[in-house]
Amino acid sequence: MIRVQHQLALREAETALQCLNGQLEERVRERTQELEILNARLTKMALYDALTELPNRIFFIDSLARAIAESTDNATSFAVLFLDCDRFKTINDSLGYGVGDELLKAVADRLQSLLRPTDLLARIGGDEFAILLTPMSTASTITQSANQILDALSTRFQLENYEIFISVSIGIALSNSQSNSAEQMLRNADTALYRAKTQGKAQYQVFDESMQASVLQLLHLETDLRKALQQEEFFLHYQPIISLATGRIVGLEALIRWQHPHRGCISPALFIPIAEETGLIGRIGEWVLEEACQQLRTWQQQVLQDYPLFVSVNVSARQLVQPHLIDHIDRVLQETQLNPGYLKLEITESVIMENPQLTAITLEKLQKRSIQLSVDDFGTGYSSLSYLHRLPAQTLKVDGSFVQSIDVDGERLELVQAIVGLAWNLGMEVVAEGVETTKQFAQIKALKCDYAQGYLFSKPLPAEAIAQLIAQSPQW
Ligand code: C2E
Ligand code: MG
Ligand code: MG
Repeated sequence: MIRVQHQLALREAETALQCLNGQLEERVRERTQELEILNARLTKMALYDALTELPNRIFFIDSLARAIAESTDNATSFAVLFLDCDRFKTINDSLGYGVGDELLKAVADRLQSLLRPTDLLARIGGDEFAILLTPMSTASTITQSANQILDALSTRFQLENYEIFISVSIGIALSNSQSNSAEQMLRNADTALYRAKTQGKAQYQVFDESMQASVLQLLHLETDLRKALQQEEFFLHYQPIISLATGRIVGLEALIRWQHPHRGCISPALFIPIAEETGLIGRIGEWVLEEACQQLRTWQQQVLQDYPLFVSVNVSARQLVQPHLIDHIDRVLQETQLNPGYLKLEITESVIMENPQLTAITLEKLQKRSIQLSVDDFGTGYSSLSYLHRLPAQTLKVDGSFVQSIDVDGERLELVQAIVGLAWNLGMEVVAEGVETTKQFAQIKALKCDYAQGYLFSKPLPAEAIAQLIAQSPQW
């Protein structure tokens, strides 16, 4: 009896044990699954970018390292393209991060659609993308790809509420360019990218060893630029703008100069792009406006009396989207007591095209204050004429590169003629920039331009020399 009871208890215990075992196994299976899912998520987080779902920098470096290890000969078997959206910060600052994110996703999609299955696209950071083109046969196929990307990204992006035009700059490092590590190769591509940016953006540059030194120099320049305002190294030159009807000076364009303590005078064509890229243009631009308005006010009181001269101040893309731009202009006008009708702001055509909606709002506010507006460097930007007529700009400045070739190039002459005709139709006045010869002068007169500016009349001059010039009351 006792034995039977024992056996029964034993069987019960066995069944309970089996049951427990089953439960335990089930638990282990569940946990393993959970762990696998977690692991996959962690890997994804570690190797992919959350916004675009593209591989990230770590993934890219890893793949690049493998490509380097596998490349056996010295021929160009693959290439790294480092891309950066030009003036992306302007879009973020003006339209908000939501739109910026939407745009980045659209850029990623468009890039992906251009690539082959063997290529790898990654998001490296902010608005930076990298592409590993592999396999590549010749250097020319690489530059072809780069051109294709530049083209594809310069066409309009239609986002939910905005249409946006952007451009990108590309730095290229080829696999045979002495780079032994993936990090080094990406750095080389980044160096070439920096060169592409400083050479005017919207282009590609292929890395070569000589770039390193000049990029370093530019980086030094950036450091010096940060100190330049404080150390009062900037000053303004003024270039007369002539009325073709009277032959007399009607306005002055303020042009910034930088007297570098060791390197002498540095051209704004070199440092303004750096100032824009680093955001320093905000303070520099404010200084230019203050100085130019103050100077004109002084001239009005000392030499001009009732002679109505305007001052033209260049405003860059980054400034135009700064929310406090209008407040600052108001304050300067208030402090200097300058009549806003004597202030003209020059804005390049491409700036307007980059961000037409926001620009239009700012420009309207300026118009309400009777501040005049000029579209600068016309002919070099997107030339989207359809926007032009919606802008409250009174003047159009034909870029000097056009004007300087009208005496030798019939096609250019026709083009300038067409631009003048267009401006007339839109009720705008035309300034011909960069007039250097008497022949060009005669031609722009015949074309019925309204104003002219150029070395033929006067180079940009320091304020004291301008005061003397005005006192002589010259006529051309
Ligand atoms: P921009 O506004 O188109 O200015 C005209 C440029 O053409 C000036 O160059 C001027 O010196 C030059 N120029 C005038 N007449 C002639 C000529 O007959 N022949 C030739 N070859 N050139 C002529 P600069 O002063 O070197 O300025 C270059 C650019 O830098 C300006 O082009 C403007 O975009 C920018 N910049 C200058 N000052 C400022 C500033 O205060 N703020 C901003 N944001 N940009 C500025
Ligand atoms: Mg200008
Ligand atoms: Mg210009």
